[in-house]
Parts: sequence; C-alpha cells; structure tokens
Amino acid sequence: MDTISLFEKLLTFKSITPDDDGAFDFIEAYMSGFEAKRIDVDEVKNLFLVKKFGDGDHLCFAGHIDVVPPGDGWSSDAFEPTRVGDEIIARGAQDMKSGVAAFLNASCEAENFKGTLSILLTSDEEGDAKNGTIKVLEYLKEENLLPDFVVVAEPTCESVFGDSIKIGRRGSINGIIEKLGTQGHAAYPEKANNPIHKIAAILPYLAGINLDNGDENFAPSQFVITDIRAGMEVTNVTPGKLKMMFNVRNSTKTDKKDIIDFVHKYFKEMDYSLILNQSAKPFVTNQNSKIVRHMISAIKEVTDKTTKLSTAGGTSDARFFGEYGIDTVEFGVINDTIHAPNERTTVKEVEDLKRVFDILIRNFSKGD
Ligand SMILES: [Zn+2]
Repeated sequence: MDTISLFEKLLTFKSITPDDDGAFDFIEAYMSGFEAKRIDVDEVKNLFLVKKFGDGDHLCFAGHIDVVPPGDGWSSDAFEPTRVGDEIIARGAQDMKSGVAAFLNASCEAENFKGTLSILLTSDEEGDAKNGTIKVLEYLKEENLLPDFVVVAEPTCESVFGDSIKIGRRGSINGIIEKLGTQGHAAYPEKANNPIHKIAAILPYLAGINLDNGDENFAPSQFVITDIRAGMEVTNVTPGKLKMMFNVRNSTKTDKKDIIDFVHKYFKEMDYSLILNQSAKPFVTNQNSKIVRHMISAIKEVTDKTTKLSTAGGTSDARFFGEYGIDTVEFGVINDTIHAPNERTTVKEVEDLKRVFDILIRNFSKGD
C-alpha cells in the first residue's frame, strides 16, 4: 500500500481513546515482516513490532493510534477521510495517524539496516496515559529490548513542514495554595481577616514571574496563576478562605522543591497550605546526539530547511522515553488543527514525512 492509502485506511478506524477499533490487528498483519508483541493492560491496547537486521543500534518509532472525540463543527464525517485539493480531512490527520503511516511504511520498506528497527504504538496517549507507553517500556526493560534511540512522530511543525523538531519537553507542575482568614462583614473590615487583601500585596511577585532564566534548550519556567477564588459572590461579606491555582511548565532548572521555596518566601508570614503535583518531568536530548544530527540532516535533504530545535508546547509520551535516558526526538507534520474540527494535513506533508524517515533509516546505520 502506498503511504497515502495506508494513511487514509488508518483514518477510517474510530480509535477514540482507549479503543483501537481494530487498527492494531490491521497494522500487525500489514507489518508481517516484524515480530509482534501485544502488551494490553485493561482496556488499553499496545502493540510493539520489532525486526532485528544486525547487531547495531536499536532505533524505535513511537506513536499513538488513539484520537480525541471529533466534537461538533465538522463539514464531513470525521472518520471518513475527505480530500479537498491536496488536503486530507479527518480526526487524527495531524495527531497523529500521518506520523504512524509514514513510519510504518518507512520501516516496512527498510533494507540493509544494520541494527534493530521497532515500532511502539499505544491507544492511550490522549487519555490518562497510565497503561500505554509506560507499561510497554516496563515490559521492554524486562525483556532487555529497550531501544537506544526513539523518534516520536507527533506533529511538531509550526507553520511550514520541516521548520521544527522537539528534542525535549518541559515538565508540568500544578499547585493549589489555600490561604485561611476570618469571614466578616464588609462594613467592619477591622474585625475580619480578609485573605484577598492579604495576598493582594504579594501578587505582583508571583503572577507571571520567571523561576529561572531558562537555557539554550528551555524557555524560563514561569509561575502561571490559573484561578483565584474566594467569597460568596456578594458585596457585603468578606471571605474566610482563598484558593489560588497555578501551573509551572518547568525546565530542568526548576523542580518541586524550588517551587515550594518560592511560594514559602512570600506566604511565610501567613496561614497557608500548599499542594503540589508533578504531572510530567522535563527531559532533553543532547543536541549532539546521533538521532538529533540524523534527523536534522534528513529534514534538510527533503525540505532544504534548517530545522529549529524546540522544547516548547505541552507534554507528550516522549517524556516516558526520556525517563529511561533514551535519546528521543519528535518530528511530524504541521500541528495547526490538532484536536479541532476539520483536522487536516496535506498529501505532500505526509509523503515528505515518509521520505524523511526513509533517509533517517538509511543514514542511521552508516556509522555515526
Ligand atoms: Zn498526539
């Protein structure tokens, strides 16, 4: 099957998290030259395909077959790929069945690779991601099958195909601060302890403040307030309690302890509590890593562009490989309609993505 036919076939599966809708049976049969391992956990399906060509490095392509629900506002059926000119419209067109189609065909057609090629697919990336890539990596570690290098084919390009790859991702830390006071009458502020007035003076030192200066790989970690609530939506009662929620997309220079110290510096004179939850840890792959260098040159060969190395944006499953110390990069099509109605990509981008992966595979086993 050519890459576009394969792509359109994948788009017809209604693989809304965590249901693969039979896509993995199809892919397993399609990739018959690879040994297949199914690592299913509860309702989540995971598929690992592997082929050993020789004793060289193990290169793995990773991704997810699941998509978010279509929602309203589509001009055609979200699971019937529709062509308009060079564009293909369907849920998952960018995120990320284009990437999956491209690496399946590139791997399928690989010849004379010197090491091991593998493909890791989950149906649990858009959900809570607890039984997907994490569980497959635990299994691969036990089986001594962990890859040396990983390419996650998430859509990474910003405005032009080839303009950006991700070599890491920021972490994410959520926090809730509760500040207690004493409720009272607005006419007698001296008899109450109004937590809104208490925090008003320190807000300028918190809101949007950078917790570090960033570095060559990461933007500064910023303290972003997402919610402040107190009171009963009336004008004559001052509140007895205030709740502030915040998020920090953190670089490797700021961790949980730094945030605890930062909050304490300003709240220490007050009666407060802090709950912190780290939902993702930051990771970065060295810019001189073999996988980064080969990805840059493959993109250059196909697009004649010097790609930007980025760590911006939200989290992805790439972070789980980062935790095993595996050098990981992400590259895929432009990501301007992900999770939106009428999600779309172009035939040219998908074909070019497949060519980039062809070249990457070809050059990867030629020394370093
Ligand atoms: Zn995705």
